[in-house]
Amino acid sequence: MKVIIIGAGPTGAYIAKTLREEGFLGKIIMFSSEPFPPYSPPVLAEYLESNGKNKSIFWMGEDFCDRLAIDCFMGKKVVNVLPFLKRVLGEDGSQYEYDILAIASGSRMWIPIKCECSKESDKEKFYNFKSLTAVEKLRRELTEKTKKAVIIGAGFIGIEIAITLKKMGLSVTVVEMMDRILPRMVNKKIAQPLQRIVKKMGIELLLNSKGKLLRGKEKAEELVLSDGKVIKGDIFVAATGIMPNVDFLKGAGIPIRKGILVDEYLRAGSENIYAGGDVVEVPDLITGNVYSHAIYPEAIKQGRIIALNILGKGIRYEGGVNMNSLYHFGLPLISEGAMEGEVEHDEEINIEGENRVEKILLKDGKIIRFELIGNKKPAGILHSIMVNHSRVNFIKEYIKTEKLNFALLTEILWKN
Ligand SMILES: Cc1cc2nc3c(=O)[nH]c(=O)nc-3n(C[C@H](O)[C@H](O)[C@H](O)COP(=O)(O)OP(=O)(O)OC[C@H]3O[C@@H](n4cnc5c(N)ncnc54)[C@H](O)[C@@H]3O)c2cc1C
Repeated sequence: MKVIIIGAGPTGAYIAKTLREEGFLGKIIMFSSEPFPPYSPPVLAEYLESNGKNKSIFWMGEDFCDRLAIDCFMGKKVVNVLPFLKRVLGEDGSQYEYDILAIASGSRMWIPIKCECSKESDKEKFYNFKSLTAVEKLRRELTEKTKKAVIIGAGFIGIEIAITLKKMGLSVTVVEMMDRILPRMVNKKIAQPLQRIVKKMGIELLLNSKGKLLRGKEKAEELVLSDGKVIKGDIFVAATGIMPNVDFLKGAGIPIRKGILVDEYLRAGSENIYAGGDVVEVPDLITGNVYSHAIYPEAIKQGRIIALNILGKGIRYEGGVNMNSLYHFGLPLISEGAMEGEVEHDEEINIEGENRVEKILLKDGKIIRFELIGNKKPAGILHSIMVNHSRVNFIKEYIKTEKLNFALLTEILWKN
């Protein structure tokens, strides 16, 4: 049997790794549009800060392809899939046959801001932080002349790059169209102390400010906001959101909305085509809404299930769970469950103590979201209660007093 994997991100790498671990001896061919062995995007900030010296970014080892006997085509983009011939098409016109195809083409930066620059592709004028290729490009631009960075977007990638560039000695301004940083992760109240920490680091925050136009003569020089204000900078980094990489699948008959739509076995419209990771839209385990979850644990989980299903194990994928954690503020910040504002809740538990803030949202007596700052201890237990859809009415007081422990958890799960 011949398996082709499109993409060498965490999903693609995990499909290949699991296949080999499970004793698959057939041929595995892997394509990546980037010329690197599999790398870990969450390590990109440390990689940049170390000026490319932190090799732990290659989390599966730089010898991944040889060690796992994979025919790797790193730096070769797949430009189409021909399911009726069971073939993929490389950008140089070469064709490769498969028995099973796994699409793990991930996502790219989505930049909804116009550019009015004089040279080459306008979009090239924005830098981004979405891939190792993009970070290498950014690294080349960080010369002694680069003094001021403007980051557009204060989500977790935007905040991460802002803090990293600040640590590297640049002056940094972050432009965010919402009224707070990390708008999908925390509400306004929780965002406020975090914003104070970011400002204390010397980062300028412009909230309620929408980037409209990037312009310059020889290079990008200034960002015009929708209120007419102009922000000057030496480098402009977009952290404005992501889009699934599906363009190359046009006409292939694979079900696509924004991302690829898959069934409960992560099959994409055909018995022998699977898809997983940032490129797919899957139901959320807590809210039932279907969208790309775009987080590392989902990439790994889906990659593993795809590999096992290629081997005929018939594992059902139950749904995605959003979770984000950030450690840049000098204290842990964890949020999990429905996104901020995604669904209505009917009850809210708020706990505030010294260096500790917890917010738990309930709907019909079940946890649908929690946010923890300073104290990450309850995360595991709250996660288990939430994904099991257990009713928590009778243990609410315990949650507040931190008495929640595994013995009680077992009791809750037993009673529900
Ligand atoms: C800076 C940063 C920090 C992050 N931090 C966290 C974190 O702390 N926690 C967390 O949970 N998540 C984090 N994430 C998100 C997480 O990294 C992604 O959810 C995960 O990488 C998704 O894996 P993937 O393999 O599906 O896609 P990707 O990582 O996007 O990989 C896709 C792969 O497909 C290749 N490809 C695309 N199109 C083609 C084509 N046509 N032909 C061939 N190859 C193609 C690409 O080159 C790439 O190798 C972070 C992401 C970034 C960018």
